[in-house]
Amino acid sequence: MPTSDESINLEYAERSILTASQFERIGGMVDALLDSNPFYRKKLSDSGIGSSKDVTTESWTQLPYTTKSELSDDQIAHPPFGTNLTYSIEQYHRVHQTSGTTGQALRWLDDETGWAWFTGGWVSVYRGAGLTEADRVFFAFGFGPFIGFWSAFDACREIGAMAIPGGTMDSAQRLRAILDNEATVLCCTPTYALRLAEVAESEGIDLAASSVRVTIHGGEPGAGLPATRARIESAWGATCYDHAGATEVGPWSFECDRREGLHLNEGAFLFEVVDPDTDAPAEEGELVITNLGRVGSPVIRYRTGDRVCLHPGTCACGRTFRRLDGGVIGRLDDVLIVRGVNVYPSAIENAIRACDGVGEFAVDVFRRGTMDDIEIRVEAEASNAGSVCEEVGRRLRDALALRADVRAVSPGSLPRYELKARRVNDHRGSV
Ligand SMILES: [Zn+2]
Repeated sequence: MPTSDESINLEYAERSILTASQFERIGGMVDALLDSNPFYRKKLSDSGIGSSKDVTTESWTQLPYTTKSELSDDQIAHPPFGTNLTYSIEQYHRVHQTSGTTGQALRWLDDETGWAWFTGGWVSVYRGAGLTEADRVFFAFGFGPFIGFWSAFDACREIGAMAIPGGTMDSAQRLRAILDNEATVLCCTPTYALRLAEVAESEGIDLAASSVRVTIHGGEPGAGLPATRARIESAWGATCYDHAGATEVGPWSFECDRREGLHLNEGAFLFEVVDPDTDAPAEEGELVITNLGRVGSPVIRYRTGDRVCLHPGTCACGRTFRRLDGGVIGRLDDVLIVRGVNVYPSAIENAIRACDGVGEFAVDVFRRGTMDDIEIRVEAEASNAGSVCEEVGRRLRDALALRADVRAVSPGSLPRYELKARRVNDHRGSV
């Protein structure tokens, strides 16, 4: 095991040591931000923080949150990069951009040290999934401005693995590249892993017989859903690992070989879970993150909008980092309230993917009169469309108490996604 990456050493540390390390780094960061980061100098000063001495484990929860809309407003007021910059602009050498699916796209800059820290987060992902220098990692990713797997690509070098870029290729070309290079690991969104499996089947390629032994997913929830995970593993004959991160935050989680929840990378971040309505600490609620190694473009107490549930026990792998049950449950702003019942799109996905014979699916929610109606289209072969629809309807009723109008559409007729699948459309706001 390498010893150069501090976050790896902390994975097994006692909690008191971990907390002391986190606050030591926060102290250094706070002093740097007060000195030269206009965005956080104002936020911290306005809260009465004059130096790192004012920040303690006790006073921490009095610090203000940071929200995405604040960051977005700051970039609009101070284009193009905003004022959350600690160093002179010449020191930044990477720019990435959020996908903008939940509002204005954010541009995010990284300096050399911040990018090395970001890459270190992916080293934890790789170590958790058991990758070594013998692995060849294929990236089914477009390598556009979205940060996605750019840092994952760089992190291969850190562990000595081979990185194979799969940009500007269609699905068939990517499959060919995976086979020709004898890739052992696939990195992509969970949706796209299923899409590649679909294309492989139509091309007569037996993926389970390929050399791919591990798949690692990010960019959207899904790989933490038991039914989606089972489909990916069955199609690829590989072990599937979930990961969650964000452009403005960093790669904040990884799974270990026990795969019993998503480990929070507490060596590189400080995490809080709060009730989204009262802000009180909670076991299930919104994840709030402070990153500890990206001083050039940091976030402090950032409201991620991700709903999570902390796992109560410690992990059999020996790591002391806490875990999230089922990864990210959903986005707080994505929750559907259908006839008074809260439903996350991920829960709908898990129920549908558990049904054999379903390809892609789409969910539409309407208001008709005073009633909410949920319609689900599932791709199924005509020969078993009736039984597939019946099973999808039954699973949604049993698992979610959700009554939906389910109908079958022809295989291949619904949209395919490479990044950030949008299968749920709520039409109620527009009526
Ligand atoms: Zn573990």
